[in-house]
Amino acid sequence: MSNAWLSALDQLEEAAAFMKLEPALLEVFRSPKRILQVAIPVRMDDGDMEVFTGYRVHYSIARGPAKGGIRYHPDVNLDEVKALAMWMTWKTAVVGIPYGGAKGGVQVDPRRLSDGELERMTRRYASEILPFIGPEKDVPAPDVNTDERIMGWIMDTYSVNKGYSVPGIVTGKPLAIGGSMGRGGATSRGVLVVTNSALKQMGLQQDGLRVAIQGFGKVGGFAAQLFHDAGFNVVAVSDYKGGVYNPRGLNPSALMRYKEGRDTIADFPGADALSNEELLELDCDVLVPAALEDQITEANADRVKAKLVVEAANGPTTPAADHILDSRGIPVVPDILANAGGVTVSYFEWVQDIQAYFWTEDEVNARMRDVMQKAYENVRSLAEEHQVRLRLAALAIGIGRVADAHRVRGLYP
Ligand code: NAD
Repeated sequence: MSNAWLSALDQLEEAAAFMKLEPALLEVFRSPKRILQVAIPVRMDDGDMEVFTGYRVHYSIARGPAKGGIRYHPDVNLDEVKALAMWMTWKTAVVGIPYGGAKGGVQVDPRRLSDGELERMTRRYASEILPFIGPEKDVPAPDVNTDERIMGWIMDTYSVNKGYSVPGIVTGKPLAIGGSMGRGGATSRGVLVVTNSALKQMGLQQDGLRVAIQGFGKVGGFAAQLFHDAGFNVVAVSDYKGGVYNPRGLNPSALMRYKEGRDTIADFPGADALSNEELLELDCDVLVPAALEDQITEANADRVKAKLVVEAANGPTTPAADHILDSRGIPVVPDILANAGGVTVSYFEWVQDIQAYFWTEDEVNARMRDVMQKAYENVRSLAEEHQVRLRLAALAIGIGRVADAHRVRGLYP
């Protein structure tokens, strides 16, 4: 069983006890609504065929269509997808958007594939999950190692099968086919919004605060730029190959340029090398994990020196580590709140697609900021009222809203 799934279940049990959730609903929430596993045969460039395993999990559709990203990674497995789908369910509820929760993934190292192989695999995966997805059923989006190009292929595959263009089938797609302004940077922008809210609550001035970011992908890379532009001092970043550190501050746009063609920022000149483990324990003010699950664990939580942890990634902190950080007085803005800016703007994209009426970037960003600030405020006030961690408060709000949907809908038949 993957740690992510155990973490997700552990969080659910803790929140259910805190909320005094009725046992019948807890039983419902312990399992996904439905699971699809698919075999994806792909013609490789050398003429051979390879078969990849893919998944799509609908955790809940109680509050609206299932919604969640698609991950391509060699470690993808059903338990991980289930955990990510459960977190999506609480996340859409915490920010109050009318979706359930889903996730998908293919067990593959996409770095090993040519562009043609990647496209054929994506189109075949999309075809295999086709009966499961749809603008009113389940709306996929990008996650680790997937991007707007891949969303474009999925939109096209779905549309060709239907015989007409269906932009609302995925979010995070290119602007030319119904993408939204501001979707690319939305998760990172939301991370900055909640970081500022948390710092204000802690009475810390943001100017010059030192930020360390693990993961320099779509979320971490753009977050580095935004933090830098907002006056923070981004002292360290890392990716799958390692990290770099400069106490005087790194220049995110120079890092972006360095990454082009290399696929990594490791060995970036003008900075010291540092490992991912060292980055997590770095002397800094704000630590932003923006890579994968299970990074802050029982093994390193007592060495984290940051004053604040903001979870841009899903599931980066294990439950045991979460309690250690709490006992050390280090607040954690939890994933289901901190990185919800992405799904919020995905929701805006879907709304724009359905209405065939598109908003300006300023409108998108301003509405996302409102949603995130309001969600943060709700979570903060519940946490303060009961003197509990932000995570427990966020879970209680998210799970509570899904529970309400079940209660008013009743049980069929
Ligand atoms: P991405 O594929 O664009 O980037 C992932 C980054 O993590 C890359 O820089 C990669 O090199 C790095 N990485 C991979 N393995 C690592 C390791 N072992 N140690 C350190 N770094 C490692 O993915 P992304 O979309 O930026 O997603 C990052 C995290 O944010 C994931 O947890 C994802 O679920 C979460 N998230 C993404 C979005 C979104 O809109 N893309 C929204 C919400 C949450």
